[in-house]
Amino acid sequence: MADAATIEGHCLCRAVRITISHPKHHVEICHCDMCRRWGGAFYPALTGESFAIAGEDAVTTFQSSSWAERAFCGTCGSNLWYKFLPTGNRSFVAGLFDGAETLGIEKEIFVDEKARWTDLAGDHPRQTGAEVIAEAREAGFEFD
Ligand SMILES: [Zn+2]
Ligand SMILES: [Zn+2]
Repeated sequence: MADAATIEGHCLCRAVRITISHPKHHVEICHCDMCRRWGGAFYPALTGESFAIAGEDAVTTFQSSSWAERAFCGTCGSNLWYKFLPTGNRSFVAGLFDGAETLGIEKEIFVDEKARWTDLAGDHPRQTGAEVIAEAREAGFEFD
């Protein structure tokens, strides 16, 4: 499935359906305190070259900070995506997608805010929040 040109996802009630074209083969795991509160554990982010969304009428968005918006299904409550407002880039909750369970982990970020009960195995990069923010500042983003 990870080699498919597209990957299909949907929320629990199927009101919202998402297709990602040329998805990455790895998810990025965010352990920050906002992602933990939002999803209950961590945020497994999946991105790709492009995406299409059906059922946007069912989507509710919440601006969780000055730089990010998060979306969920207003009917079933499934979390859907994270949108980085400075670029408009979105990543999607990997668990929504059929076949995404075979993907690997690209990296873990905000590991200094990680809950102990979400230790993940594997030899992939792990960055603290300070390292992630420093990298974003170097790329030109401003945070309050
Ligand atoms: Zn739903
Ligand atoms: Zn996060």
